[in-house]
Amino acid sequence: MLQEHTPFILFANCIPVRGARRSTICDLQRGLVHPIPNGLHEVVTAGRGRTLAELRAIYGPGSAEVLEEYFTFLLANDLGFWCADPSAYPDLDLSWDHPGRVSNAIVDVGTESDHDFGSLVRQLDALGCRALQLRVFAPWPLGRLDAALGHTLGSRLRTIEVIFPWSAEWTAQEMSDLVFKHQRVSSMLVHSAPEGRTQEFRPGDTPVHYTPQVVDHHSHCGQVHVGYFAVTLGAFTEARGANSCLNRKLSVDAHGEIRNCPSMPRSFGNAATVPLAAALEADGFREHWGVSKDQVATCRDCEFRYVCTDCRAWLRDPADARSKPARCSYDPYTATWGADPVPAAVVQLAASAPAERVARREPAVACVG
Ligand code: SF4
Ligand code: SF4
Repeated sequence: MLQEHTPFILFANCIPVRGARRSTICDLQRGLVHPIPNGLHEVVTAGRGRTLAELRAIYGPGSAEVLEEYFTFLLANDLGFWCADPSAYPDLDLSWDHPGRVSNAIVDVGTESDHDFGSLVRQLDALGCRALQLRVFAPWPLGRLDAALGHTLGSRLRTIEVIFPWSAEWTAQEMSDLVFKHQRVSSMLVHSAPEGRTQEFRPGDTPVHYTPQVVDHHSHCGQVHVGYFAVTLGAFTEARGANSCLNRKLSVDAHGEIRNCPSMPRSFGNAATVPLAAALEADGFREHWGVSKDQVATCRDCEFRYVCTDCRAWLRDPADARSKPARCSYDPYTATWGADPVPAAVVQLAASAPAERVARREPAVACVG
C-alpha cells in the first residue's frame, strides 16, 4: 500500500544502474535485473529517502500518476520499503577482492594437447584459483576426462565447468557415474550431440546438457546475451572496478600456451616449461584485468554493464582496445537487441569469469530486456 508521509528506500541489495536510454535495478539477492525508466532511477537515487508527498511537490501536480505507478512497481517486485529512518540503513559495501592471485582459469584441450593436469591443478591451487573451465574440443575418451578431473579431487577448486564432445562410445550410465564421482563439476555440457536435451540423474547431481552445436575451437567464445548475465554480489562488485571476464583469469590453451584467455593473441610461455606463477608476473599479462565496463565505449552507457560479461578478445573495432565486444548486439541508446543476438542453441564458452559466474548452472537472471 502506498504511504504519503513515510520515506521510501530500496533494499541495500537492490542497486540502481543508470543507462543512456533506460536504467536497471539489479537485485543481487534474488539474481534479478529489472529494467526501469530513467525517471524512476532518479526517484530512487536523487530522491532517496523522500516521501511520496515530497516527491509530488518536487515534480509537480502532473507527476502523481507516474509516481504512483513507480512505487506500485517497486513494492510489487519487493525492491524497497517504507522506512521512517533511512539513515539507519547504510548502503552496501560494494568493494571487491579475492584471496588469491587467480580466481578462475580455463584449460582447453584439442587433438594436439599434452597437458600435465596434475601439475596444472596443483599450480592453480597454489595461486588461489577457485573456478576452472575445462573445454574439450576434440574426441576424448570419458576415461581421460575422469583422469583429468581426478586431479581436482583434493584441490581447493570450488566449481568446475566441463564442455566435452559427444561420442557414441560412452553410455549414459558411464556419464552418470562420472558426474556422481566429481561433485564439484557444476556444469556439464556435451557438444556435437545428435540432439539437444538435458539428462538428469540422481537428485542433486549436476544435470548434463547436450547440444548439437559443434564447439571445436576457442573462437566460439565471447557471445554477449541476457541469458549469460551474472547477477550476484561478487560479479557485480568485481565488474564495477575490473574486467568482468579477464580479471584474475589465467588460461592454458590447447597447445599449452599460457594466456590471459585462450583467444588473446599474446602467449606468456608454454606450461610445459614455464610455471604459471612466472607467466602471471610477466609484463603485460594483467594488461586487461583493470578494464571495467565503465572504460569501454558504448558499454559505459549501458544499464547492464555490471552484470554483463565483457570480452576483450573479439572487439567491434579491433584497432581500439576499449571498443565494445563484437558479439554483443545490444544498443543501450535505443534499448534494443539486434534481430538475432545469439543463435538459439548457442554455447557460451568461457565468458564465465569469477567463481560466481562459473557456479551458476542456469542463467540466474530474469530480465525483460
Ligand atoms: S569472453 Fe572472455 S574468455 Fe571468452 S574470448 Fe572473450 S575475453 Fe576471452
Ligand atoms: S552494450 Fe556492453 S554492457 Fe551492454 S550488453 Fe552489450 S557488451 Fe554488455
